[in-house]
Amino acid sequence: MDIKKVGVIGSGTMGNGIAHVFAQSGFDVFLMDINDAFLEKGIATITKNLERQVKKERISDVDKSATLARIKPTTELNDLADCDFVVEAATENRKIKFQLFKDLDKILKPEVILSSNTSSISITEIAAQTSRPDKVIGMHFMNPVPVMKLVEIIRGHVCSDDTVAITVELSKILGKVPVEANDYPGFVANRIIMPMINEAIFALMEGVATKEAIDEIMHLGLAHPMGPLTLADLIGLDVCLSILNVLYEGLGDPKYRPCPLLKRMVAAGDLGRKTGRGFYTY
Ligand code: NAD
Repeated sequence: MDIKKVGVIGSGTMGNGIAHVFAQSGFDVFLMDINDAFLEKGIATITKNLERQVKKERISDVDKSATLARIKPTTELNDLADCDFVVEAATENRKIKFQLFKDLDKILKPEVILSSNTSSISITEIAAQTSRPDKVIGMHFMNPVPVMKLVEIIRGHVCSDDTVAITVELSKILGKVPVEANDYPGFVANRIIMPMINEAIFALMEGVATKEAIDEIMHLGLAHPMGPLTLADLIGLDVCLSILNVLYEGLGDPKYRPCPLLKRMVAAGDLGRKTGRGFYTY
């Protein structure tokens, strides 16, 4: 495996964390987003998270500067042409991802693996946008990326064993634990967690309990590190809604229908931590 330069697309919640762990592991990273403001916000988050690691004495000041120096922000997809591996972490939207994979397929060397951090969109369908479907794979990092160990590795319908082996090895170099799953809507993590979050929102909407009570019950009663509404704010309510829609449409079962309160909050732009307001105010 000769991977030195990695392209990361999207510098939002996940993209900046993915760029952070690749750069910290010694890879040169091209971090791409649609405008400078998003990139600046992404770099600011990486800087803040690295500073926290320095404070906790997990890394040195020199490591922090070296990590930041390895990340090159860009708004030009063409700047990724030379990359040896790509992780796409753009907005959870089929149209956006399909177009990105069509473009990446044209720009990147034919042997390069194109991975997606999608939470729920079919890897097989994303792969079908390219002329290299055997080299397209799901690399589903967990939030917050620098902290969480798991990477769910999603094998598309025609994904090759080589592609899986390289992506597994790369995940280990990043200090992560890769676990394989097949390509079904929501894969494993979201198929199980999203119905729980959705049910918590229904419980809130129906007045079963306050948001604080719902979170406290799940936190203390089931030993979850945080309650489902706090978790939804962390993930992003727009991301939760699009994953539920994929589960609902992909599995055709009404048990996945998104709660009307979730839809209303997304329509109002209350997306959680990233906008400063969701179930809680930040
Ligand atoms: P986000 O909204 O925080 O960030 C998405 C970024 O993508 C934005 O900065 C946006 O400007 C950028 N973007 C949109 N179109 C683009 C394009 N054409 N080219 C380049 N950049 C573009 O979203 P996020 O939470 O970081 O989610 C990103 C991906 O990761 C999604 O597929 C999501 O399902 C997945 N994911 C999210 C979480 C989570 O907890 N938030 C966890 C695992 C996976």
